[in-house]
Amino acid sequence: LREEWLKAKDQPSISADGHRVEIGANIGTPKDVAGVKEHGGEGIGLYRTEFLYMGRDTMPTEEEQYEAYSSVLRQMEGKPVVVRTLDIGGDKELPYLQLPKEANPFLGYRAIRLCLDRKDLFRTQLRALLRSSVQGNLKIMFPMIATLGEFREAKEVLLEEKQKLMDGGTAISETIQIGIMVEIPSTAVLADRFAKEADFFSIGTNDLIQYTLAADRLNERISYLYQPYNPAILRMVKQVIDAAHAEGKWAGMCGEMAGDPTAIPLLLGMGLDEFSMSASSILRARTLLRSLSKADCEALAAEALNFDTAEEVVELVNHALAVKK
Ligand code: PEP
Ligand code: MG
Repeated sequence: LREEWLKAKDQPSISADGHRVEIGANIGTPKDVAGVKEHGGEGIGLYRTEFLYMGRDTMPTEEEQYEAYSSVLRQMEGKPVVVRTLDIGGDKELPYLQLPKEANPFLGYRAIRLCLDRKDLFRTQLRALLRSSVQGNLKIMFPMIATLGEFREAKEVLLEEKQKLMDGGTAISETIQIGIMVEIPSTAVLADRFAKEADFFSIGTNDLIQYTLAADRLNERISYLYQPYNPAILRMVKQVIDAAHAEGKWAGMCGEMAGDPTAIPLLLGMGLDEFSMSASSILRARTLLRSLSKADCEALAAEALNFDTAEEVVELVNHALAVKK
């Protein structure tokens, strides 16, 4: 099996009936890029920049950030790199920000909420990103967007910093795409509106599942409710992909679900354009993808979207995959 996966390293991510997608990787630091290339990653679908801020006593400077982002862009040699702005809070703390304890950290002051409140910190990161943009194919993504107002404000701050840098004579790429994580149900529901203003979506199922089923993703006692295959999740995912396509935009997924062999036929069938996963999952995912017919997967997804429960969905897909083997 492994031998077969290895063959997929230099093959394109294309279904048996000729539909092309991108299979990329999630990374936390520039050092992770080597592993992505070893596993044949076609891009970085999620660079979690919070790791640059964690495990230290002070904020990373603009220069440090510039070095990190530039390094990832250069190593990827023009392939797409989606950098997510700071997504701190929830289970990820930064002691030096001295934030007060909250009763519900996952519903609290975090990610874009914090960045829009602490614009000093946000602007520093955006400047570093903008300056690095000429080194490769940069896409900037905002995490935990819950309202259009937040997205518009974040984009405005980004464009302000871009203008300032350009006024000062700094070269900035003219082709930076600006997108959002779709990981809060309100944003999935309003995806048609967001699609008019964002260049792309990346569906964050890790959070989308926890917020949709109201089940803390870290709480073992209620893990039975953490259901990627609940038809409620599948319908949201489908709606988000359709909304992007209706505006000529692309939709990816960077939650764990994107690399799950049971999910891949459904996501291909629903028209997902980009799959981002841990580097070690890429070859298995590409091997599977290359064996699947998009047309068959469309029918499979349509059936799954009509079920009542996650169990039925999983049974359907596993049966379809077993028949194929
Ligand atoms: C997600 O929520 O699905 C995601 C990819 O982001 P994180 O796991 O970093 O919250
Ligand atoms: Mg998330």
